[in-house]
Amino acid sequence: MKPAPFDYHAPRQLKEAAELLATLPNAKILAGGQSLVAMMNFRYVIVDHLVDLAHVDDLRGIAVIDGHLRIGAMMRQRDLEFSAEVARHCPLLAQALRHVGHRQTRNRGTIGGSLAHADPAAELPAVCAAYDAVLHLASIRGLRSVPFRDFSLGFMATALAPDEMIAAIELPIWRAGHGHGFHEFARRQGDFALAGAAALLDIGADNVVRRAALALFGVAEQPVRVEAAEAALTGKVVDATAIQTAAAAAWLIEPISDIHAGGDYRRHLAQVLSARALVDAARRAGVDV
Ligand code: FAD
Repeated sequence: MKPAPFDYHAPRQLKEAAELLATLPNAKILAGGQSLVAMMNFRYVIVDHLVDLAHVDDLRGIAVIDGHLRIGAMMRQRDLEFSAEVARHCPLLAQALRHVGHRQTRNRGTIGGSLAHADPAAELPAVCAAYDAVLHLASIRGLRSVPFRDFSLGFMATALAPDEMIAAIELPIWRAGHGHGFHEFARRQGDFALAGAAALLDIGADNVVRRAALALFGVAEQPVRVEAAEAALTGKVVDATAIQTAAAAAWLIEPISDIHAGGDYRRHLAQVLSARALVDAARRAGVDV
């Protein structure tokens, strides 16, 4: 299959891209093309104009600003995977990236594209949910900042206006010495996950959990923060029992069923993967559970 005819635009400036998106009828942003082009080829998506962000330098870069890691939306997944700043400040993101598709798709795919595509089984939205990320959206009306929990609206649905683009993503940097854990279950390496868990734990010298985050993906229409698990751990001494008790809270989710897996099976996966991710996070925080 080939896409329906479209006009191609390659703006160099953010302002130019915003103006194109605001004025062109039936326009879509092109980032890495790893999801959009396939959908266009199958004619799931028919556009009159493609606005390619590849040449907009303002949408690239990684910087530590006020305790946050700020990442340009057009950063390629592969560049983030090998970034020293990402590995140092947001190791959960570094680990999750290795599960996103294949190195070939990561060479082109971008973090902004993955967040905007909003596949429920995508890894990067779950990482943003775990970190309580903030997204900076740009249009001709200017910039607005949206917490990720308000950005993700459901199955491949986001708070983006039709003429808006994700310009940058900000991840709060957790205290040095925190632990992270990431586990997913997919039929084959590189497939979208049937279920997955992303965990962060900040544990004090007394082995008491100061802060916890547990996000599930692939189990519902959008990433799910398991707040009951986080509450069960926070303020408590972390050990194997505490982790199993917390992971059991994943049972409370309302999982989706589809041709790939039933809800009960996803619920089972959510519990098992939550426990594994939390154990890894505790061990990386220096507690031998
Ligand atoms: P594109 O495909 O260019 O665009 C995707 C959508 O986002 C489009 O609607 C586009 O208009 C919009 N968009 C892009 N950038 C922006 C922006 N800055 N602001 C607003 N809207 C924007 N993904 C996973 O998460 N996990 C996987 O396991 C996985 N496996 C894959 C396996 C294969 C074989 C392939 C081909 C893809 C796979 N993907 C997977 C998808 C891949 O990760 C894509 O990179 C990602 O979904 C989209 O990123 P992109 O930059 O290619 O965006």
